[in-house]
Amino acid sequence: MKVETVDVPIDHYIDGKRVAGSAGFEVRTPIDNSVLGTCAAANKDLVDRAVGAAGVAFHPWAQAGAVARGAVLRRFAQRIRANKAALSIVESVDNGGLRHAIAAHIVERSAQNIEYFAARAEHIGGEAVSGSTNTDVVSYEPAGVAALITPWNGPLMLSTWKLGPALAAGNTVVLKPPELAPLSCSLLASLAEEAGVPPGVFNVVHGDGSVTGQALADHPGISRISFTGSPQTGRKVATAAAANLVPVSLELGGKSPFVVFASADLDAAAATAARQYFNAGQVCLAATRILAERSIAGPLLEKICEKVGAMRVGDPRDERTSIGPLISARQFERVTGFVDRARAQGAEVLFGGRQHSAGELYFEPTLIAPVSQESEIVQNEVFGPVLTWQTFDEEAEAIALANDTTYGLAAVIFTGDAAQAERAGRAIVAGTVWVNSFFVRNLAAPFGGFRKSGVGVEGGNHSFDFYCNVKNLSIDYVSFQRGASSTLTRLQ
Ligand code: NAD
Repeated sequence: MKVETVDVPIDHYIDGKRVAGSAGFEVRTPIDNSVLGTCAAANKDLVDRAVGAAGVAFHPWAQAGAVARGAVLRRFAQRIRANKAALSIVESVDNGGLRHAIAAHIVERSAQNIEYFAARAEHIGGEAVSGSTNTDVVSYEPAGVAALITPWNGPLMLSTWKLGPALAAGNTVVLKPPELAPLSCSLLASLAEEAGVPPGVFNVVHGDGSVTGQALADHPGISRISFTGSPQTGRKVATAAAANLVPVSLELGGKSPFVVFASADLDAAAATAARQYFNAGQVCLAATRILAERSIAGPLLEKICEKVGAMRVGDPRDERTSIGPLISARQFERVTGFVDRARAQGAEVLFGGRQHSAGELYFEPTLIAPVSQESEIVQNEVFGPVLTWQTFDEEAEAIALANDTTYGLAAVIFTGDAAQAERAGRAIVAGTVWVNSFFVRNLAAPFGGFRKSGVGVEGGNHSFDFYCNVKNLSIDYVSFQRGASSTLTRLQ
């Protein structure tokens, strides 16, 4: 398929070869909701073939060692960097992400995802614990074939975040890209091939989640499943993993709070609040519930209105655009439905709330003052450019409101008081809490969601805890001395 100037393979990638699909599905661009072409879809047999190829490739790749694997993976990272322009073109057309942001940050981060874990894998394990009789030698062994299933809101970034540690640790993988934006991952497989990733080590099967994704999650040849997506699908994937007794990592949705205390730098808080509309709000980590201390609520709201008013909604290929389209007509209806129901319940729409004139799938950045904490708009993930606005009087009230959803992915706190930052940061139930900042993601730091936002932690060594079998070789060294002395006794 031709995407502007870039040729993108639309077939699966199995055992180092492009393989046509048993069926196909339509790929659209959210820029104008037009059809780009047809991508191959894999049935159960093709998934089986991909898992089989990954199984055959596993032993040589695992036994190659981390240094040899690292050399290949560093070349892969370099191919990603060298193809920044092509990847930015393809991903922005494919999922409506801002082309300038993909080029400036996402491609580089994707390369780092591979490179960082390649380097880190060279130093995992090696621990030895001495006991009274035995010495426990701990090693991290690759687990086997990993199934990687990713969503459409960040295909490159999220796929490489899984590919990096899984491959560096010595596993082989089958990646199932999102059917709503499959193209950049398809290109990624070609870059891996150019880098010399051996056939069967990195396989890609395209298709619908309910068919291809489910067949992959169900496959008995899989040793690990790493899934990023919605809690609803996460449950299905976890059920499949349970049937095969396979460890599963789930990175799911969020409804993260954005707490602004009276002592905060309000300009910085307002600028960061406006950033929650990035990617048209289709970001799991977006802190979509603004909780403002009542004494500064007026000036903060004014500043947020000003910052958001300066953001341009439009074509994601245009450098001046800050907010692009929603991914699909279905997602557009979902977002509209949330806003309409909130309005019908008596919520006040402080700004936005309608389709934007930029086109069919564009929605205005929206801020809603809900009727109550129990409202659907406060409790459920919208995954669109829709934030809520609530006020509080006391720190304890802010924390209670922040914690009062079923999610626990992230939180943002703005305060000028370091003690308060630490107190509130500890009290908020979330995998990541940012203070006076947002979206700073150190690859060495743990990343995972609490409650309905996920199961398990990845990042740094946590990734290897998941992608490896952590093994204990427990040796009674004294037995060798006993053995040696009895041999000596026999010889005398
Ligand atoms: P989704 O759950 O619909 O799909 C995610 C992936 O799962 C897709 O590749 C899809 O094809 C596949 N899938 C669907 N049904 C499946 C099944 N039965 N078995 C196996 N795989 C199946 O999610 P989405 O709509 O693509 O993404 C949006 C969701 O992802 C939001 O809830 C968002 O918060 C979440 N998300 C979370 C993170 C995180 O790191 N926590 C990051 C990005 C997105």
